[in-house]
Amino acid sequence: MIQSTPPTTGERCEHSSHSPASFGARRGVLAAAKAALSAAALAACAALSGLAVLSASPAQAQTYPSKPIILVVGFAAGGPTDIVARSLAQSMSKTLGQVVNVDNRPGAGATIAGNLVAKAAPDGYMLFIHHNGMATAPALYRKLPFNPLNDFEFIGQAVDVPMTLIGRADLPANNLTELVAWIKANQQKVNLANAGLGAVSHLCGTLFQQTIATDLTTVPFNGTAPALTALLGGHVDVLCDQTTQTIPHISAGKVKLFGVTTKGRIGALPNTPSLHEQGLRDFEVVVWHGMYAPKGTPKPVIEKLTAALQSALKDPEVAKRMKDLGAEITPVAKQTPEGLRPHLAAEIDKWGKVIRAAGQYAD
Ligand code: ASP
Repeated sequence: MIQSTPPTTGERCEHSSHSPASFGARRGVLAAAKAALSAAALAACAALSGLAVLSASPAQAQTYPSKPIILVVGFAAGGPTDIVARSLAQSMSKTLGQVVNVDNRPGAGATIAGNLVAKAAPDGYMLFIHHNGMATAPALYRKLPFNPLNDFEFIGQAVDVPMTLIGRADLPANNLTELVAWIKANQQKVNLANAGLGAVSHLCGTLFQQTIATDLTTVPFNGTAPALTALLGGHVDVLCDQTTQTIPHISAGKVKLFGVTTKGRIGALPNTPSLHEQGLRDFEVVVWHGMYAPKGTPKPVIEKLTAALQSALKDPEVAKRMKDLGAEITPVAKQTPEGLRPHLAAEIDKWGKVIRAAGQYAD
């Protein structure tokens, strides 16, 4: 869920290339709350349409799974979504008796990945894991070649992950107040990295700019793994990213930490105040994750996948890793198709209104 006081000030927008950043971020002005959802080209999605769709027969559903399963991630390997996906995939492999391989298909805010899975055979061998971006995509990308509510079967929600506002290690600021002062004094030079339009890093970074009423140059990457690499190399200045990726780098002192995006503090970073607590009123970003299969995947297959997801989320190794990385396992009732679908529908509704009111689109 992303919540924030509705923005009222101008906002910079970006035009994402959806390729590893060349640091050639372009500047542009974008109206406040709107900014989360600014313009850029979405060209590649249509290329994946037209794949043959063959459903599993009842007999095949009974013996499912009889070969490896692919779990598609819409962002680069090594990033926060990928980290969640790989933890779950490893544990689900044990339950299902078949390997679940993670396949990274970054680009266009994970909509290329979403389209790939929407058009895949509904046999349970290609799945999708995605975050809040599944809810922003239908409004943000008007030519979205798939429908998140109609083109998928729902396996369940998985984990909720807070974000952190971090900066390069040699940034002159040492706390949020100093960061905001430094940004305002150096506005023309400051780079804010993200994972492209529709990424939560983009939404979080946009809310940050709105809240401090400042426009920054944004630099899009294929995921926040390469964005963080750029931050560690001192090539970009600031990044808002999930704790699942940032905590090890925070602990190692490789980046500066300015606050967490939950309203209160989190167990994994008990000494770090939230941005809300430090004066950015009502700043709140929590990243939820859902797992999906193509529409028409037989119910018995979905039931096996939901059971495997639930047992992964109970797996002590997964639970410890998620806890250490600041993530919270969603309640069991939400780890179901009935827990995911209405949540996605409500989020689509919420973000659709904001995006349409803004009139700013990715395509
Ligand atoms: N953290 C990314 C985002 O902003 C996604 C990723 O690279 O996992 O959406």
